Order: sequence, then C-alpha cells, then structure tokens
Amino acid sequence: MAWQGSTRRSRLPKNWPLLRRKVLRRDNHVCQNRFSEGQLCGREATEVDHIEPGDNHSMANLRALCTWCHARKSGSEGGRAAARMRVRTERPKQTHPALED
Ligand SMILES: [Zn+2]
Repeated sequence: MAWQGSTRRSRLPKNWPLLRRKVLRRDNHVCQNRFSEGQLCGREATEVDHIEPGDNHSMANLRALCTWCHARKSGSEGGRAAARMRVRTERPKQTHPALED
C-alpha cells in the first residue's frame, strides 16, 4: 500500500485503530487545529495527528484533525506530502483495512 508511505505505516503501534478512536472521542470529533489568529478550526475531525511527529503515541501527543488541516500540516512537515495528499483525499479513512491489524 503506497497510500501513506511505508516508514510511517510501520511505526504505528498495534493498537493504533483503538488509540485513534479514543483520540477522536476525546476531542469530540472536532478538529483541534488552531489558526494563527488562535481560532479553532472546528470542522469534523476524521484523522488523528501526532503533534510532535515521531514515535510518541501517547494521548498527549495526539489530537483530532479534519482532513484538510492534516493534509496541510503534513505538507509543512516535509516535501513528500504533495503526492501523498492527493492520494489520501481519495481514500475513505475510517474503515481502511490496512489500519485494522
Ligand atoms: Zn481542521
């Protein structure tokens, strides 16, 4: 599956689907991104973001984001994101079977 990049996928913990659901529930499925003016995005969140990119999967380092903000953040984290963003938006997120291991 090339939809997320192989290194990133292999880093996700076994309980990621569970963790992901917990984060979305904690944040009420509301996008937690704040714009530069300090305003909360507030759109429906369907993705979970690592605040500090890396291997810290604690709840404190995770937050719910909408697809748009997540793609935007990924874009600012690395140059590889443009191609990935395009693929991601075409994929349904919640029930992707690759996440359910
Ligand atoms: Zn958002």
